[in-house]
Amino acid sequence: MKPEPRRLIPSVEKVLSQVGATDLPRPVVVAMVRRQLAAIRASKRPITLEQAVTGVKSAISDLRQARIQPVINGTGIIIHTNLGRSPLAGDAVNALTAIASHYNNLEYGLTSGDRGGRAAYLEHNLAILCGAESATVVNNCAAALVLVLRHFIGGARKEVIISRGELVQIGGGFRISEILEASGAKLREVGSTNKTALADYSRAISKQTAMILKVHRSNFYMGGFVDSPPTESLADLARKKRVPLVEDLGSGATIATETIDGLEHEPTPAQTLKCGVDLVCFSGDKLLGGPQSGIVAGKARLVAALKREPLFRALRCDKLILAALQVTVDLQLSNPAVIPMTAMLREPVESLQARALMMQNALAGVPAKIEVRTGKSQVGGGTLPKSAIQSITLDVIPARLALPALADKLRRGIPPVIGYISGGRFRIDLRTVFPRQDESLLAAIRTALG
Ligand SMILES: *Cc1c(COP(=O)(O)O)cnc(C)c1O
Repeated sequence: MKPEPRRLIPSVEKVLSQVGATDLPRPVVVAMVRRQLAAIRASKRPITLEQAVTGVKSAISDLRQARIQPVINGTGIIIHTNLGRSPLAGDAVNALTAIASHYNNLEYGLTSGDRGGRAAYLEHNLAILCGAESATVVNNCAAALVLVLRHFIGGARKEVIISRGELVQIGGGFRISEILEASGAKLREVGSTNKTALADYSRAISKQTAMILKVHRSNFYMGGFVDSPPTESLADLARKKRVPLVEDLGSGATIATETIDGLEHEPTPAQTLKCGVDLVCFSGDKLLGGPQSGIVAGKARLVAALKREPLFRALRCDKLILAALQVTVDLQLSNPAVIPMTAMLREPVESLQARALMMQNALAGVPAKIEVRTGKSQVGGGTLPKSAIQSITLDVIPARLALPALADKLRRGIPPVIGYISGGRFRIDLRTVFPRQDESLLAAIRTALG
């Protein structure tokens, strides 16, 4: 057998010693070195030790970047799904630490000394926040929808009636129609894209009907020749025909969004249930400002039945989520202003402007033009698509770097900074930057330009 030309390929030990200390676990670094050397061997091209080490270092750097870590959100998109949606309130974070590091009464009744109901306190207060008889929580809104669909579909009743104007896609890979089909439902589309009448729903109801689903058009809007029946009329029809009516609200605003400059009205769970809808579901990490979760609220009888579904066990939340959500719900009831989501939405332009000017001054002397401009923040996360909130941006026009290169350097910094390129400038919207991050932002800009 012909010996491999090993002398052309540096040894694992050699490369490892040259790569030096990293903050990744050693077995991970060893695996990366082996992978790199295997790739070199497969390519059959000789390589120097330096090249091999550079290759491994760059692979380590890419892997380290993929670690979940805090970033500075300069996009101006407040609920940014790619950036983790809602940051939690300080009190919710404290609760996470306390519950995570101790035993707790997750399923233990402290008054009875017996097995207790999971999330009983949270569900109690959530129901009050939603103006509902009852409420419960699962992993996200998609899970809530699947649970509801699976519950109402049974025997001959497989059809879910939905308006053609509401067969929406939410973010990547979430189409209402696909969720319905994956849950075993048969889609019974009614009306047209822009107009659906009560009679369309009425005609579609039969012995095969499992439920009527309304989906809030949360991430887009339609104007012009558009019509759909008021929720009250649809609820009347559903009640008369004894068919459950469920609405997917998506963002689940519990505050009056129209009281915030630049925002339109978003239907609240309480308002929707008051119209006669049997159940609503919405995300806990959008406008509610909590951790990823899906809330179902409405008729007590139905919520109790959902909790008896075997599927509920598979979709239920972990104690950490319940702990953070419990605090968030209490804050929504007592002091919503301290929830970061609400605070960001309400932050006056003047205070953003003051911070921007301070930062502009602090950046005097960097090899770039720094400008303070007005911008428009968005709510994002598939909510309030029409809304645009006045904001302030810190714009960087680098003297020696191309804009994509600056963006790349900022993304690779510690902490990473995510902004956007527009009109020949790199823009950082300060509405989504926490004031406590201002110093790190300045340092990151200096490093990237230097
Ligand atoms: C965001 C959204 C969902 C998905 O919520 P997740 O909590 O991410 O599963 C479902 N329906 C609507 C209308 C939404 O806006």
